Amino acid sequence: MQSGDFKLDRRKFSIGVLSGVASSATGIGAETPTTAAPNDRMPAIFVAHGSPLSIDDAGWMAGLGKWAKEMPKPRAILMISAHWVDRPITLGATRTVPLTYDFYGFPQRYYSMKYNAPGAPALAKRVKELLAGSDKVADAPDRGLDHGAYVPLLGMYPGAEIPVLQLSIPTMEPAPLIALGRRLAPLRREGVLIVGSGFLTHNLRTIDFSPTAKTPAWAAEFDAWAAESLRHRDTTSLTQYREKAPGVQMALPTHEHFVPVLVALGASLDVNESVTFPITGFMGGSFTQRSVQFG
Ligand code: ZN
Repeated sequence: MQSGDFKLDRRKFSIGVLSGVASSATGIGAETPTTAAPNDRMPAIFVAHGSPLSIDDAGWMAGLGKWAKEMPKPRAILMISAHWVDRPITLGATRTVPLTYDFYGFPQRYYSMKYNAPGAPALAKRVKELLAGSDKVADAPDRGLDHGAYVPLLGMYPGAEIPVLQLSIPTMEPAPLIALGRRLAPLRREGVLIVGSGFLTHNLRTIDFSPTAKTPAWAAEFDAWAAESLRHRDTTSLTQYREKAPGVQMALPTHEHFVPVLVALGASLDVNESVTFPITGFMGGSFTQRSVQFG
C-alpha cells in the first residue's frame, strides 16, 4: 500500500532548512543500559519517527539515543511502522536484507543508508505462536525495514546490533489493533521491545519548516487530548478518537501514522504501569514529536 509513503515536496523541504530545525527531548538520563533479564518486563513504546531527513537532525537523533539508554537493552525489537500497511499481518525479513526506501525525490544519499540489524527468526516464531488461532500471519522474507523503522532505530540503537522484526499494520480499526497489542504483550517478559512508530499528528499538507512556523491550535489541541487519553490508558476514548478528539480531521487526514500507538497501548493494558512521554514538542509546525513509554 502507498498510503504511508512519504514524498518529498521540493517547495517545502530542503536539507539546508531542516538541518536548522531544533528538536526537543526532555527528562532523559544517559546511563548505560543493561540487557533485559528474562522475566523483566520491557516497556512498550510509541516513537514519533521523523522523516528520512531526520538522520541529519542531531537533536532528534540525540533525543532518541538518550531515551534508549534509559531503558533496559532489549534482546529483540518488534517494530510496527506507519509505513507498512498490509493484510493479513505480515512479518518482514527474518534475515538481514536491504532497507525499503519508501520515499521519493530525496537526494541520492538517503537511498544509500544502511541499518544491518540481525534478523529475528526466533521472534517471528514466537509472534506466530502468540497469534495462532486469532490471526493469519504471512511472511515477506525480502521486505526490509522502511524509514519509519530504521530512522528511529538509527537514533536509538545506532550499532544495529539488536535483532529487529517488522510486523505490518493489518487494519486501521482501533479495537482490533489494541487487541493485537494485547496478544503480543507476553513478548515484553521475553526481552522484546514492542515499538509502534508513526506520528500522533500527521498532515503533510500543513508542514512548515520556516523559522517562523507556529503550531496550529488544532495540532496542539489534538496532542493534548492524545496525551491525556494515553496517560489514563483510556481505551474507550482512544477507540473512538476519530469521533471524539479535537482537531482530528486536520491532525489525521489518514490514520496509518496514529494507529501504531494503539498496538503499544494494547500491550500495556493487563498491568498497572506508568505512562510517560520521553520526547515532546513539535516539528514542522503541526507534527507532534510526542513519544510514549508504557512501563
Ligand atoms: Zn512517516
